[in-house]
Amino acid sequence: MIFILNNKFKKILIAILILSVFMVSFHGVSAAGTTETTNITTLIKNVPKITTLKWKTGGDVKKNYAIKKSIPKSKLVNKVVKDAKYGTPIVRFGNGSGKKVFIVAGVHGNEIASQIAALKLIQTLEKKKYVKGTIYIIPFTAPWVTAHNSRFYKGKNLNSVANEKNTVTNKIINLAKNYKVVAVGDFHCTQPGGVPGRNIILGTKIPNLSSANMAKGIAKIVNMPYKNEKYAAVSYPGALEDNLSVRGIPAVTCEVKIPHGTINKKATALSLRQMNGFLKYNKLL
Ligand SMILES: [Zn+2]
Repeated sequence: MIFILNNKFKKILIAILILSVFMVSFHGVSAAGTTETTNITTLIKNVPKITTLKWKTGGDVKKNYAIKKSIPKSKLVNKVVKDAKYGTPIVRFGNGSGKKVFIVAGVHGNEIASQIAALKLIQTLEKKKYVKGTIYIIPFTAPWVTAHNSRFYKGKNLNSVANEKNTVTNKIINLAKNYKVVAVGDFHCTQPGGVPGRNIILGTKIPNLSSANMAKGIAKIVNMPYKNEKYAAVSYPGALEDNLSVRGIPAVTCEVKIPHGTINKKATALSLRQMNGFLKYNKLL
């Protein structure tokens, strides 16, 4: 009896031993598998949605001839242009889940190429069934200003008042916070001979080094120069990009060279390249 029990005991021990070896190796496989899957981006369903922010910014952007002649043909773009009469339209791609980023154009209404580039990006993203995360796009920050081919909203340069409560650019920062975006790209045009007066990606190092790293990373992707100021909101206290970085959302300003109030294919293509570079850097493309 004792012999039989011992034998049984041995068998149980061997079974436990085999099982534990199997468990350890199985765990190893699954751990390796987990490591692999973390590198695979989960695709999410693309459900484009337009929201019109009633910020008393609405205007008929088609009144601006440079805009009108360049509006890309697309159902969604058409709707964005119509909705812009009533406020600032924001288009969401994805479904609100996953990694979230934000693209802004038209902070200066007379910088046409970036606004048309944003519409072209909307036209491209509209066709995608799945995306790698959620992308928000404001193609016209203040459509009224764009309609009048102007630089000023109620006498104010919107890129110098983002630090003031209730301004349009300050509301954009609050929106980015609410949406929990992890990066913002602000797309502009710069006059030849102006500041910076060349195609360039701009960021800042302090207090958000991710802004500087992003400027450097996008510059490499799009093959353009970059420049990082040491401190955000010091040289430009009211700039949208600077104030986003100060409030914990790394941001960059991307500039293409073209006279204000005008458009050409080259500058539009360069601005679109910067937008795609921003999305690639943030692994959304
Ligand atoms: Zn500008």
